[in-house]
Amino acid sequence: MTSPLPPRDPLQQLARSCAACRRCGLAAGRQQVVVSRGNPTARLMLIGEGPGAQEDLAGLPFVGRSGQLLEQLLAAAGLDSQSDTYVCNVVKCRPPGNRKPTAAEMAACRPWLEQQIALVDPLVIGLVGATALEAVLGIRGGITRLRGQWRASDQDTPNLGVLRGRWLMPLLHPSYLLRNPSQAEGSPRWHTVRDLAELRRRLIDPPLG
Ligand code: SF4
Repeated sequence: MTSPLPPRDPLQQLARSCAACRRCGLAAGRQQVVVSRGNPTARLMLIGEGPGAQEDLAGLPFVGRSGQLLEQLLAAAGLDSQSDTYVCNVVKCRPPGNRKPTAAEMAACRPWLEQQIALVDPLVIGLVGATALEAVLGIRGGITRLRGQWRASDQDTPNLGVLRGRWLMPLLHPSYLLRNPSQAEGSPRWHTVRDLAELRRRLIDPPLG
């Protein structure tokens, strides 16, 4: 008698489905589909823009210089990237030349992102960079003004879907911080460590209701 098959992990199934996806033109230039890294049961999800060259080769998001800086900033805020976060991107395949994904590409990939949010079920979502802010909440521009401000999902999106009940915060992208290396008080890096610490505080002490 054969033993029953173990139940399939929905996130693994999602990764397999993404690996076969050709919904948009980015499929043609990819080495690998880049789905996620980190803890699939984390209550903090970080969403970036899309894979760069090193991520495309490794098959993992945020592994290049930006990823290394992100790890340092998370550590400075008391967070561990592997155990405390689930990290993914708006688009799962590398845009050529690291250009910004088009609106059509972001829309094509959105169902995968929504499935990730539904399955991981994070309380808090960090929108890493202007493209993530635009793709998830439809807010264009203003990342340096909006960073560090909580966006209750109900406040921004009439069609809430999987965002309902979650807390979202725009964050500066590590690639921007690499171009602005000052760590002085009031610098973009200084603010980002405090923004990440605020995400951590919200995880520890969520608001009632
Ligand atoms: S970017 Fe997203 S929608 Fe486009 S081919 Fe890759 S997985 Fe599919």
